[in-house]
Amino acid sequence: MLNNSRDLLKRAEKLIPGGVNSPVRAFKSVGGTPPFIARAEGAYLHDADNNRYIDFMLSWGPAILGHAHPEVIKRAQEALARGSSFGAPTELEVELAEEMVARVPGLEMVRLVCSGTEACMSAIRVARGATGRDKFIKFDGCYHGHADSFLIAAGSGALTLGLPNSPGVTKGCAKDTLLAPFNDIKAVQALVDANTDQIAAIILEPICGNTGLIAPGDTFLQDLRTICTRHGIVLIFDEVMTGFRVARGGAAELYKVTPDLYTFGKVVGGGFPLAAYGGRADLMSQIAPSGPIYQAGTLSGNPVAVTAGLTTLRNLPQAAYDQLEATGQRLEDGLQNVIDYNAYPLTQQRVGSMFCLYFSPEEIRNHTDVKTCDIPKFNAFFHHMLDAGVYLAPSQYEAGFLSTAHTDDIIDEVVDKATEALEKVFQR
Ligand SMILES: *Cc1c(COP(=O)(O)O)cnc(C)c1O
Repeated sequence: MLNNSRDLLKRAEKLIPGGVNSPVRAFKSVGGTPPFIARAEGAYLHDADNNRYIDFMLSWGPAILGHAHPEVIKRAQEALARGSSFGAPTELEVELAEEMVARVPGLEMVRLVCSGTEACMSAIRVARGATGRDKFIKFDGCYHGHADSFLIAAGSGALTLGLPNSPGVTKGCAKDTLLAPFNDIKAVQALVDANTDQIAAIILEPICGNTGLIAPGDTFLQDLRTICTRHGIVLIFDEVMTGFRVARGGAAELYKVTPDLYTFGKVVGGGFPLAAYGGRADLMSQIAPSGPIYQAGTLSGNPVAVTAGLTTLRNLPQAAYDQLEATGQRLEDGLQNVIDYNAYPLTQQRVGSMFCLYFSPEEIRNHTDVKTCDIPKFNAFFHHMLDAGVYLAPSQYEAGFLSTAHTDDIIDEVVDKATEALEKVFQR
């Protein structure tokens, strides 16, 4: 029953494009009515029709401690009572920067912003400003927010220039963004060779969570590090999704490769609009006011958001990551038993508390591979799970997330529900 959500969607569509404030929320790829959410706690979402869902979307990653974590709520309320925004520096910002720097390898300085988009566009500006070069390389299928220079599609042929991927992005902007397939170091080397001394940065999600869940190949990150060092290119890890989620120090810690710059968001904001970029001090100190590269923000370092982020990080000791890994393993094992027993053409990919169930019998290594998935079957599975009270990300191209509020009992319940849903999808 989604009657109230259906009515709300009708009202919303008159006033808000597609009825939503971010496109994927509209369920365009899976079809149907998106539940309008009324409240959430722990591992659960409740919608406007009083349906309850076990949530594997977790606000697209931030809710790593589960929704409405009591200590996060309490500290945020206390901070709010002291004033919601000052536009002047606070001790809290220093504490958050200290906490981040203590966790992340090679993170020497940080600047707080309000969204992952802002973090990524600012990191590219720093790389360009510091190197005096215009071009950068991104990977097909990696998402870095909606700034113009990231909304670029691959042209035909590996060495052609990027093309605008959205009306409103100029060809002039697109020509400075070069694209390579994820996990393809030869393509990267070819782009670097063809653009000598013109490439400011290589930016990537070290674990690609915006085409499902794709881990980097054995030496991919290390090889990128080597190329960047050799050619004076700034290596940027976009850890907006992976930062403080896959390990205490994020993907850089996990894979033991240190970039020059990072971007963060999602978990670091504890469910509030807060993001950050940072890295080598010699690069970050070129940002205004200590240097000439301009970047600013009225609500940057907002005390309520910073408090929520700081409280979230302080509730994520190593033991929390061990717990998340065990939860992820339990889910993976449970589903794999069902897949193997029934010989379903499905492939699971997981790193810690990020996972994807691909409707493909083959390993998925890049964006092109994801396009081979059986999307209609994924969509059917998604809806059977939603009907059974399990909220998965509404697209085969999105990762699922776990929180510390997802207990073993919840995981076992989900495996049972997935077993039934898959029987319906494959008509066994
Ligand atoms: C979500 C995301 C962004 C964009 O962050 P917003 O806060 O939505 O602007 C950038 N990069 C990655 C890897 C993301 O997952």
